Amino acid sequence: MADHYEVLGVAKDASPEEIKKAYRRLARELHPDVNSAPDAEDKFKNVTHAYDVLSDPEQRRRYDMGGDENPFGGAGGFGGFGDIFEQFFGAGGGGGRAAQPRSRRERGQDALVRITLDLGDVVFGVHRDIEVDTAVLCETCQGSCCAPGTSPVTCDVCGGSGHVQRQVRSLLGPVVTTAPCGSCQGYGTVIPNPCPTCQGQGRVRSRRTVGLDIPAGVETGLRLQLPGSGEVGQAGGPNGDLYVEVQVAPHPVFSRDGDDLLATLEVSMTDAILGTTTSIDGLDGPVDLEIRAGVQGGDVLTIKDRGVTPLRGSRRGDLRVGVHVVTPTKLDAKERQLVEDFAKRRKAPGPQLAQFQQGLFSKLRDRFRTH
Ligand SMILES: [Zn+2]
Ligand SMILES: [Zn+2]
Repeated sequence: MADHYEVLGVAKDASPEEIKKAYRRLARELHPDVNSAPDAEDKFKNVTHAYDVLSDPEQRRRYDMGGDENPFGGAGGFGGFGDIFEQFFGAGGGGGRAAQPRSRRERGQDALVRITLDLGDVVFGVHRDIEVDTAVLCETCQGSCCAPGTSPVTCDVCGGSGHVQRQVRSLLGPVVTTAPCGSCQGYGTVIPNPCPTCQGQGRVRSRRTVGLDIPAGVETGLRLQLPGSGEVGQAGGPNGDLYVEVQVAPHPVFSRDGDDLLATLEVSMTDAILGTTTSIDGLDGPVDLEIRAGVQGGDVLTIKDRGVTPLRGSRRGDLRVGVHVVTPTKLDAKERQLVEDFAKRRKAPGPQLAQFQQGLFSKLRDRFRTH
């Protein structure tokens, strides 16, 4: 630990006024808000700590007597009531602590937007331009908060430390407490000429468009993270992240079961008896489908690779359609005669009980209800 007098560049017998002057000069030069050199902050801390000790007559006296002292401030030996004070009253007190000014640098907040996708978007993935209302960098001051051509100046009230010391009475007798400087809100610097565009905030609210490639296979509730696309940081701090939460709108025909798509295929009684070929509208265009003669209600037809492209992996799911045979409800006289003739010819047995079957189609239907 360098000698406090050397750190401040003053003589051992310097007057309180000289010490204060020296500290102000150095603080103005080294404050992290105005000095971007990598070692400026450490130097600033040392200078501030030296000032903390030497500006307090009691601490200075002990320091001059060679009282041992820990590098985080607070004279050792008999003193150190800063630490005692903290034990009793929690952090924030502490006469001898080398209080640091608050940095204006702050990480921007995360932002969340919700988007609704169609099932078709989910099957293949989609590009969306997303409108985000958030804080962006002020172009006028580039985030410095200062009017062009001006810069922050060291706070006169606290001398740049961001804190002021006050002597208060406590159970332990008079104690020096440290409180954030009200004049600079603890930053140690003030901005005499705030940027007119952002009123000294360094950021302005704005609507901006973020392009996003949404991968195939996303599901409702999934959050996509765009690092650094949230609120811009303060005073050069890192940006927050943007989260995009996906909601998949229900589709009038298709439901999703993992990577498979489900639908019902209505087949007329005659097509079910005779069989037919047809073309159905899949989410990615027409699909040829052969319905064999004698297909039963509840049969499930699987069309390979026409489901959802999975989020991870490459093989698409299948499209599964459950057959629903539609019995005609209105027949004219001629049709009725034909069906009666057919029934006579078939000599089909009447309705019969059989074992209850939890068939594939009913399973399919159960899934429909839960999706
Ligand atoms: Zn500005
Ligand atoms: Zn201040």
